[in-house]
Amino acid sequence: MKVLIAEDDPISRRILEAMLVKWGYCVVTAEDGEQALEALMAQGAPPIAILDRLMPGIDGANVCRKVREKENGTEKYTYLILLTIKGSKEDIVSGMEAGADDYIAKPYDEQELRVRLSAGRRIIDLHKELTTAKNHLLEQSRTDPLTGILNRRAVLSELHAQMARHHGESGRLSVALLDIDHFKNINDTYGHAAGDSVLKECVLQIESALRCDRFGRVGGEEFLIVLPRADESNLQAICGRILSMINSNAIIFNGISIRITASIGAAAWDGIESMDILLARADKALYLAKNSGRNCMKISIPAECAVMAEY
Ligand code: GH3
Ligand code: MG
Ligand code: MG
Ligand code: MG
Repeated sequence: MKVLIAEDDPISRRILEAMLVKWGYCVVTAEDGEQALEALMAQGAPPIAILDRLMPGIDGANVCRKVREKENGTEKYTYLILLTIKGSKEDIVSGMEAGADDYIAKPYDEQELRVRLSAGRRIIDLHKELTTAKNHLLEQSRTDPLTGILNRRAVLSELHAQMARHHGESGRLSVALLDIDHFKNINDTYGHAAGDSVLKECVLQIESALRCDRFGRVGGEEFLIVLPRADESNLQAICGRILSMINSNAIIFNGISIRITASIGAAAWDGIESMDILLARADKALYLAKNSGRNCMKISIPAECAVMAEY
């Protein structure tokens, strides 16, 4: 593990460095607070730092303060050990208030330094494990397990974010609800595993027609596609591309060729209406597409026009 030693006194620095190298650490050195900060903020920075309390320029406590400020709100955590003068309670209190995790009083005992470094190492390992686990859970909470795309919650949150970004701008965002036609028949005819395989293949086809992954599974065989930059003029072309990708490519399951079609209800956003209203319009358009014989799309344009275009 990499450790930064920030110490202005060259002899103390070399002694410390030699000790740490002997214990198997990979040492990076700094001669003052500025250099220490630079090293701790660099790509691949050491996760542990031993900082002399008294250094020219930025002292050890201020390095701690600045590191904590920069780390705030990020996943990064540096374990900071301050080197203080023995018996200086004020140094210890102010140093730890500034964000140090631990302190070692000079002149330090070699064995004490070794075990305090080990404690830091344990904290850093634990932090890494927790961060990995947290990210893994976050990923799982956003993903549909069958298809690997965004789940309902995640795609709605993506839509929410896009609506916030383009609020007040008309013609900058549309949504499309896509539902596979007569999907129940596929399960009934070929079995549930075939149905699952069709869902996965269908996702790949939508993906290749869209060339982006801003869509998610919002129901059994229903998908919500978020389309930034799509307005009434290009919505038809985008949705048409998706439908023809689906209805012109048979899905092969266990050597059996399965053909499917889908219906789309799309709605262009006026930049003002709520997410619920936008989605309700898309849902109504989908309902009309189903009632018009399926394998087609209906596009709902913003409310004041109250028009449902047919394609
Ligand atoms: P429509 O054209 O009107 O949309 O008819 P449909 O058959 O596609 O719609 P319906 O709502 O009647 O049936 C949807 C079916 O999707 C019923 C349900 O068992 C199936 N389903 C939902 N989730 C899954 C899944 O994860 N895997 C499989 N294989 N089937 C699923
Ligand atoms: Mg010093
Ligand atoms: Mg369906
Ligand atoms: Mg459905």
